[in-house]
Order: sequence, then C-alpha cells, then structure tokens
Amino acid sequence: MVETTTPTEEKKEIKCSACTKSALIKKRIPTGWKRTTDYFCPNCWGDRYILRAVILPVASPVNISWEDLRAALKTMWTEMTRISNFLIRQLTISDVIRDPEMTKLPTMAPTYFYPELRRLFPVLPSRTIASLEQAVTAKYRAKRREVIWLSSASLPNFRYPQPFTVPNQGWSVKFEDDFPFVDFSIGEHKLSLRLRGGSRYRRQLGMVRSIASGDSVQGELAIYPKDKDIIVKMVAWIPRKESVSKQQSGTLRARSAKDALIIAVDEKDERIWTYHADMVPRWAAEHRKRLQAWSDDSKAEQRPVPAFAQRRNEASVKYHRRVNTAADQAARYLVNYARRRRFASISFDDSDRSFCADFVWFKFVSRMQTLCDEYGMEFALATGQHNPAEERTMTAG
Ligand SMILES: [Zn+2]
Repeated sequence: MVETTTPTEEKKEIKCSACTKSALIKKRIPTGWKRTTDYFCPNCWGDRYILRAVILPVASPVNISWEDLRAALKTMWTEMTRISNFLIRQLTISDVIRDPEMTKLPTMAPTYFYPELRRLFPVLPSRTIASLEQAVTAKYRAKRREVIWLSSASLPNFRYPQPFTVPNQGWSVKFEDDFPFVDFSIGEHKLSLRLRGGSRYRRQLGMVRSIASGDSVQGELAIYPKDKDIIVKMVAWIPRKESVSKQQSGTLRARSAKDALIIAVDEKDERIWTYHADMVPRWAAEHRKRLQAWSDDSKAEQRPVPAFAQRRNEASVKYHRRVNTAADQAARYLVNYARRRRFASISFDDSDRSFCADFVWFKFVSRMQTLCDEYGMEFALATGQHNPAEERTMTAG
C-alpha cells in the first residue's frame, strides 16, 4: 500500500531506496514521494510505475440492498459536494486580496483545515477528509493566480454529485468466480460490491487482477453515479514493464558543439539529440558588453571606487547565478535523456568551447558527474577526441 495522506506529527528524514535523494517528512510524505515497503523519490517512482484508472459499474451490492446502498451513497455525494465548496471558500478567506500596492502575487502560506473539517462533516470518513483536503487545496492553489490576481476566472464550484472517495488504505479488491468484489466502509458499515465482469471488460479486469495480486500499487477509489449505474473507479500505479525487463546498457556519446551546448550522437556520429541553450551565449555577450561599458565609464570618471560599483557587483552575481542554473539544467537534461534511453554510461567531450567560451564548463561537467553518480551511471570526460570540422549537422529528437 502507498501512504500519501496520513498526517503525522513527527519530523523525520526519509531516503529513496533507489537513489541517493532524501527528504523531510513534516505533516505528510513530501509531494511526489511514495512509499510501499520502502520510500521512493518522484523520479525513481516514475521510472517504476505509471498511474492508470480502471472504471467498472456495480453489478450488485452483496451485503446491503440497492435501496440502502443508494441512500448511503447519496448522503456521501451530498457531503462531498458540501465539504468541497466549504473548503474552497475557507481557502479564499485565508488568502490575500489583491491591493494596488502589490507588485506580484504573494505566495500562499500553508493551510490546514483538517480538524475543523472533521468537526463540521462528521459523517465523512477521516481518511476521505484528509485526501480531499489535499486535492481541493491543490486545485485552489493552481487556480488562485487567475482568481485573485488576474480576476480572469471565478472560484471553482463543485457540483452535485461529487464522487465519494476512499484513499488507498481504506479499500480492497478481490476475485471470486472470475468476478471482482470491492470492499470499503461508510461509517460503521462494511460494504461489499460485486462489479461487472465477463469478456466485455477483459482489459479492465486484467488491471483489477494486478491490483488484487499486489503487483500494482493501489491508489484512490471513487464511487459516483452515472445514468442509472453506480460506477467504481480504481486508481493504481501499474509497473512499467520495461524498467524491470530491460537493463541499462551502452554508452551515450555527447559533446559540446559550435551551435549547441550539448549534442548526443549515435555510432555513425549522427546527431540523435540536441540541447541548444541559446540563452547562454546571449547572456554572456550582454554581460561582457555591460562590463566593458562600466570599465570605460570608470576610466572616464577617474575615481578609485566608481559610483556604479554596487550595481556592477549585483549584475555579476545575478549573471553567475543564472549561468550556474543553466549549467545545472543542461546537465540534468542530458542525464535524463540517457536515463530514458537506458544507457549505462555517458561520455562527454567538452573540447569544442566555441559555442560559449565564457561558460562555466568545469561546473557543468562536474554536475553531470554528480547526476550520473546519483543514478548509478558511469561518466567519462573524453576530451579532444572529436574534430569539430567533420561534424555533420542533423538535428533530431
Ligand atoms: Zn530516487
């Protein structure tokens, strides 16, 4: 099972079981991190699993009549709709109101309405409230710029019926006589629903089996009405088959070029990947020009400390920060490309520095080294093995 929603008070450090990343748990597991028996960082988790939903109608309730099931679910759908609209209003109230003094939208402080929601909506299961608070808050945060800053959208409104959701720890699915049964609770009542089966739902049933067997990692369950049916939607992380079967192999050959910061080539030395980073030489040229202008002015002023010394320093700090960030990103793009293509190692040749002589080449290469270490890939700096004059220009992917 994956834990993503259970609030805890303790603060502790967690480590990814597949790479060297770590993170701090405060109230809950940090965004994107997942836990089965071990913790996984967002990248490593994404390498292993892909999120999918399977949708099946209820064939018949097992331990409750249709009438009682519909009545119980109707209460849930009503409460889910009410709590969603209530929470979105609370979020707005706790946020800023735009005033003319503001130059940009202030970031929103963390919010935590869980205790109040529990008190006001006692009918809803506590885990449902915890995951709903996360979902609605994420929706509000994604919209707040349009709503309170640009006034180009209105507040999200949740229409009846909002699905009744059960987080991963609160439900299970099993097979009996080739039919799937889903179990969950509403309040004190443990409910069991038989879902539709048969050849018509072959594709869906394959995925349900993978959830039932534990091969897939189950996520949220949602129950909602559609036409005359009651629909059960199961979300699960399905293993990416290729990441288990296909091992990493081969070396990705990459280098700096005349017209791009990084290119990667195949065995025939043809380009298979290009990252231009055109802003890098542009920033360098602008910075050089500015420094030259200041240097000229400084000579003209004939003062030991020129009037613009502070501005000049600030401009340099800003320039270097930008360039370092770009180096970092470029290194990451290359390493991510190699990971996606499942290369075991990267060789990089930085001997052609004509694209931008002023670039932070050393930092750039050490960043690649660090990232390769993180992902268990080899890294080799292959200086001077490439003759730029022979380079073919073919851009792909
Ligand atoms: Zn990881």
